[in-house]
Amino acid sequence: MTDPAPLAPGDTAGRPAPVLDWTVAGLADPVPLARALIQRQSMTPVDDGALDVLQAALETLGFSCRRMPFSQPGTPDVDNLYARLGAGGPHLCYAGHTDVVPVGHGWTRDPFAAEIEDGVLYGRGAADMKGGIACFVAAFARRLAEGGPPSGSLSLMITGDEEGPGLNGTKRMVETFAAEGEHIDDCIVGEPVNPDTMGEMVKVGRRGSLNVQLTVHGRQGHAAYPHRSDNPIPRLMDMLAALTAEPLDHGSEHFEPSTLVITSVDVGNPATNVIPGKATARFNIRFNDLHTGRSLVERLRDTILAVQKGRPGTVDMDATVQGESFLTPPGRLSDLLQGAAERVTGRRPEISTSGGTSDARFIKDIAAVAEFGLVGRTIHQADECAPLADLESLTEIYRQVIDGYFAA
Ligand SMILES: [Zn+2]
Repeated sequence: MTDPAPLAPGDTAGRPAPVLDWTVAGLADPVPLARALIQRQSMTPVDDGALDVLQAALETLGFSCRRMPFSQPGTPDVDNLYARLGAGGPHLCYAGHTDVVPVGHGWTRDPFAAEIEDGVLYGRGAADMKGGIACFVAAFARRLAEGGPPSGSLSLMITGDEEGPGLNGTKRMVETFAAEGEHIDDCIVGEPVNPDTMGEMVKVGRRGSLNVQLTVHGRQGHAAYPHRSDNPIPRLMDMLAALTAEPLDHGSEHFEPSTLVITSVDVGNPATNVIPGKATARFNIRFNDLHTGRSLVERLRDTILAVQKGRPGTVDMDATVQGESFLTPPGRLSDLLQGAAERVTGRRPEISTSGGTSDARFIKDIAAVAEFGLVGRTIHQADECAPLADLESLTEIYRQVIDGYFAA
């Protein structure tokens, strides 16, 4: 089957009108809301009405909704939604995103039709993470029908800028809350952190990420007369050997060992008889809580300068810290998620800090954070999907967490 022709942003041809007339009973099933969200073509930074669909659902359940659009020069404007129910503490927040990554190639179905086939819901965002958002809304609709609103506050912090630059989304919302004194105690980030099966993993932190470009400068020359030039390649190889000779660490209580991965070595030299004037390598370090970006940069600099010492030429290092590592020590929220997941799925999720970054890196500045959502096996791929059975399990897990959280 050929790839579906991409629609221009905002082009709704052939797609159903947004669903905006929800009922509490209807929202107790996560599937209609998940489908309605998937049918909005909200590839970052386009929203295509996805937040309108969600806001209408949340207002049906009694939430007060506030749009928080942010913009800044050089980045696309992004709309975000903050919905809150109740006043005072404790305050449990659910954080997620309605934006999705581009379709890509290889789909065997329309990525925005939200078709259900053999008990599986297909579509861009089914797992990452429109499906997860629908489960949290459904969980609260069930709670509302059975036990009424909780005493305390429940909120949803939903961004349209998680898959993009991330500059006008959760980061700005968190900064605004801090400035306004909007206090949140605990936050579930609903990313699809289960690797293959529901109930495998709760994340309580993430490793940091550091990108480095190392350029060794020598002197260009003829390959037949190496004594007249300074070949930067052996020096670069010695530096990479020194950088990878020893592990960065052996892991910590809640983290795997940090890793250094060389991603590129480049001299840009098309000739066979020329010694190049410079050689460049790039590498990425995923680091645990035994380091900071700054301490790692200092360590790298010491290693590189020790190799360079006494040799001709120069070297420069360009390092960018993409995010520091962070950890919310396992506690009440991760206990509630583990207990509920075990009761619903029969598996007790392991506590993990593996994987890439998420918006939890911003939220951890204002609240205790744990991440739990659907299964991530198909995210960012063609034919992204979520089994309906997983949507039901996650809804029930979230409902038990809400009950447990507000029972105390
Ligand atoms: Zn996501």
